Amino acid sequence: MSPPPSGGREAPTEPEPVLVSGFGRASASAAVTTLVRSPDHLDELIARRAASGGRALARGLGRAYGDAAQCAGGLVFDCRGLDQVLELDATRGVVRVEAGCSLRALLAAIVPAGWFLPVTPGTAEVTIGGAIAADVHGKNHHRDGTFSAFVDELVLHTPVGRRTLSPADSPEPFFATVAGMGLTGVISQATLRLAPITTSKMVVETRRGADLDQTMEILERADASHHYSVAWVDGVARGRCFGRSVITLGEHAGIEDLPAHQRTDPLAPARARCLPVPPGLPRLISAPLIHAFNATYFRRAPRRATREVLAYPPYFYPLDALADWNRLYGRRGFLQYQYVVPDERADVVRLVFERLIAAGQHPSLVVLKRFGAAGPAPLSFPRPGWTVAIDLLAGTEDLAATLDRVDELVASAGGRVYFAKDGRLRPELVAAMYPELGRWQAARAELDPDGLFVSDLARRLHLVAPEPRFAPGGRDE
Ligand SMILES: Cc1cc2nc3c(=O)[nH]c(=O)nc-3n(C[C@H](O)[C@H](O)[C@H](O)COP(=O)(O)OP(=O)(O)OC[C@H]3O[C@@H](n4cnc5c(N)ncnc54)[C@H](O)[C@@H]3O)c2cc1C
Repeated sequence: MSPPPSGGREAPTEPEPVLVSGFGRASASAAVTTLVRSPDHLDELIARRAASGGRALARGLGRAYGDAAQCAGGLVFDCRGLDQVLELDATRGVVRVEAGCSLRALLAAIVPAGWFLPVTPGTAEVTIGGAIAADVHGKNHHRDGTFSAFVDELVLHTPVGRRTLSPADSPEPFFATVAGMGLTGVISQATLRLAPITTSKMVVETRRGADLDQTMEILERADASHHYSVAWVDGVARGRCFGRSVITLGEHAGIEDLPAHQRTDPLAPARARCLPVPPGLPRLISAPLIHAFNATYFRRAPRRATREVLAYPPYFYPLDALADWNRLYGRRGFLQYQYVVPDERADVVRLVFERLIAAGQHPSLVVLKRFGAAGPAPLSFPRPGWTVAIDLLAGTEDLAATLDRVDELVASAGGRVYFAKDGRLRPELVAAMYPELGRWQAARAELDPDGLFVSDLARRLHLVAPEPRFAPGGRDE
């Protein structure tokens, strides 16, 4: 072997920690990051890290809003190096894909072959590993459940070895990894079942909801009539307009739905335009702007229901048209509060809005969706009922205390908060919100007996046992 340029006498320097944050950029912490280059490289990294006694965590595209993909003082495995679509069976609609591949890249490979992801979140800038680790949901949970319902197999790398997991052959470790927020190990690849499509377009019906009651009524009816449904809610409207919304109901378009000029190439890939937001901006989102934006968005929606054919990105991923839009919230960032409550406590949806308004909060973006049956993973977020995702400016007066009280309301109603969005929940409510936490902890202990994998979220919420050697804010070795 030829000597390294330095002459080989100097010990390799340990990379410096960098600040790692969630999409909301409200609670960064310092960690060393390393790009995973291959599954074998991942095994090496895990073995070395376990031998050193330090902590580690997988990270995808960093779209979790809070601290789920952060590991203060530890080593973050940047899984974006595992980005290949390994094998597409275009006859059966089954794909084997590396876990660092983004949904955007996967869709670019499968849509022209007549297949779609059966479940997709509101951004395509999410990795397969991140989608499994959070067991993400889409606008069709009431019909199709979560992402994991379509995962046939996954490969998990742990300190006790590499394992291939499937729901049939290894249900406990499989379902502990699904929604396990990276705490059972690192997923390197997955085999997914896809949904057939005949065009790359969507038929979208758009209509207004005059107030919260009408919005909820329309969404409830859409459970039976539409595959996809979502309401954007004006979170700052008061009085008679309280809870007014723009509701979009979607179906995959058939060839007969397309205008003649699109029928020759019905699976044509979507040409998504994406404008970048530059770094270093001051906070541009303010209360007056939020009020003006919400009012304008509502008024621009058609008064009468309209039906149009759209490419799939503007329907599923409208926010992806503005890259790094989280920078608009400035250095202090923002947070997203997403909760679910059962149908019989639909009143909580109104109560939460009222509490936020009474506390002087100005939700910048609010999305209301329906959930269907819960899945088998102990930490999976969805359960039947109503889910609301509310974007809020971070660091405003009384926000922490207000949300603490809202958490109690949600928990007492039999609801829960979504870990993939969270950066502030207190640990006392976790057991009530996730009653199967103990089952998950037992399965995790088999896969990671010495607790190598940990995140800021796991530490804050006591999802894992306390680490004797961890000094908050410092390095753990
Ligand atoms: C604009 C926007 C819209 C969104 N809409 C939705 C939505 O509609 N529905 C929904 O459910 N979610 C939604 N999300 C949340 C997002 O889908 C999840 O947070 C998802 O986990 C992010 O994936 P990621 O690749 O960015 O993972 P990261 O944010 O990097 O990590 C998230 C978690 O996954 C773990 N993880 C990542 N990669 C791996 C791996 N290879 N192996 C093991 N664990 C891993 C991490 O440790 C961490 O705990 C949205 C987020 C944004 C920003």
